[in-house]
Amino acid sequence: MKHLLTVLLVLTMSQHVLAQQPDVQELKFIKDLFNRIQPATFANNKEYCGYIGYDKNGVLIATTAYMGKENSCMPQEPPLDLEIVGSYHTHGAFSAEADSELPSSDDMMGDMEEDIDGFIATPGGRIWYIDTIDNIAEMVCERHCIMSDPNFDATLLDPVSDRYTLAQLQQRELEQQ
Ligand SMILES: [Zn+2]
Repeated sequence: MKHLLTVLLVLTMSQHVLAQQPDVQELKFIKDLFNRIQPATFANNKEYCGYIGYDKNGVLIATTAYMGKENSCMPQEPPLDLEIVGSYHTHGAFSAEADSELPSSDDMMGDMEEDIDGFIATPGGRIWYIDTIDNIAEMVCERHCIMSDPNFDATLLDPVSDRYTLAQLQQRELEQQ
């Protein structure tokens, strides 16, 4: 019995590790992807979204970026044979009114409901990763990591931490109102 428990524990732990943090190649891929989309998200002030994952040949691909609205984007269904790594979306152009340098609580709740991790690009060039196993949002790439909006002005925004729980995101949104 003890042995079985140990095996189960090891299995659970290894799955946990697998589900953690994007690896170096995935992060490079997502950076390149966001750099291609950032000009359109700034120019049109619309969010763009999709999924990244491994196709049936084991190649990391992104689904075509779908143009959503100013403050939301519902990606189109990914192909059934895509082994999904995560969803991705951008945050449009810089606005002093939008607290868009970090994920929204809706972003995080949506990912948790869908049970799919999420990658988010901000106007300041940050990348966030929403981990739906640990339910935490982490900045995986800092300001200027990817192309940022030329109009971006950090002095007009409150400082951003590098990780948030859902409760902390909700608290920040209450304070911003
Ligand atoms: Zn968002």
